[in-house]
This record gives sequence, structure tokens and C-alpha cells, in this order.
Amino acid sequence: MSIKMVDFVVDKRSIRRFRKFVPVGPDNECWPWTGHTSKKGYGLFLVINSNGTWSNINAHRFALAISSGSVEQGKLACHTCDNPPCCNPKHLFWGTSSDNLTDCSKKGRMLKGSDHHFSKRPELTQLAADRRKISRGQDHGCAFLTQSQVDSIRAEYAAGARQMVLAKKYGVWQPTISDIVRRVTWTGVPSGPRNA
Ligand SMILES: [Zn+2]
Repeated sequence: MSIKMVDFVVDKRSIRRFRKFVPVGPDNECWPWTGHTSKKGYGLFLVINSNGTWSNINAHRFALAISSGSVEQGKLACHTCDNPPCCNPKHLFWGTSSDNLTDCSKKGRMLKGSDHHFSKRPELTQLAADRRKISRGQDHGCAFLTQSQVDSIRAEYAAGARQMVLAKKYGVWQPTISDIVRRVTWTGVPSGPRNA
């Protein structure tokens, strides 16, 4: 998978503009983006590219760039909390799509199917954060899937099952299903004995 990257300018003005959209909370809680978001629920932040043009990037990528002092080329800004609008740098790391899944797998946490609505309804983000506080550690938004589940998801999708239905069935976000069926994630592992 090749990831297109552009260098963007990180200066005092852009940092000041960025901070207006991210109310800072305690270290161990999510800091949701309050500005525009993408369809997947990620914050969108307008940056100046090094060639002088403007473009929207994921807000959490900018958050990680500020906190780590650099942008790691070819890497994604990943969430340990799997909460798309979250811009708390303590919940972010440079990695790959599979790092993101691996990190979630280590925690072995399951996401309840209903949580995918939160990414589409920003007003519920605070509610989601509150729920996470209450059910600390158990319902933290990380999905744990096995290879056989991934195989089943691909087979069922190929047979016509809708992504939303699969997301609910396997307790993951719909974008996670989308990434699996498009083989954005789980690309490095063979898909069953047939290796299809
Ligand atoms: Zn977070």
C-alpha cells in the first residue's frame, strides 16, 4: 500500500489555529476535535503545504506532528484509543494500518457495534467519552478480530453482505470492515488455507 504524503507547514499561527478546535483535557482522556470531520469521523484541519497550496489533513496527524516535533514520512498517525476525532497526543503514535490493528489486538478489547454511530454524530462524542470513562478498559473502541473472522468477513462480503451488517455482527466499525474487504488492512497475512 502506498500512502501519499505532503509536507505541511507547522508554525505558530497554524498551531494557534489548531488549538482552537481541540479543548485540552486530562492526559488519560480523549480530546475530541470540535471542527469539521470526515465521513469516517476524523477531524479535518486546513494546512499550508510546503509548496504553498492548502489542503485538509487529518487533525490528529497535525496533533501528533506538533507533539512529536516531526512528520514521519510514509507513516500514519494512529490512535491507541480508536476514537477518530481524538487529538490527545498521548493517544497517538506513528505507525501503519496494521500497527493500529495490532495495538488494538494487544489490548484485546471489543467494540460494541453501536459505537460506530458516534463518529457520525459529533454531539455524541462527549457521551462516548463519558461511556469510556465509565466502562474503562472494556469498551475502549478497539476491535479484536481473528484471522478466521477476517476470512469470514471477506467471504460474506463477497457473497453480498452489507458492510454495516458485518460491522454489527463482528462488533467493529464499518470503516474497519471497509479496510478489510479492500485489503487495506490484514494484507500481510494469508487469507485462509486456499490463500485466495
Ligand atoms: Zn483518545
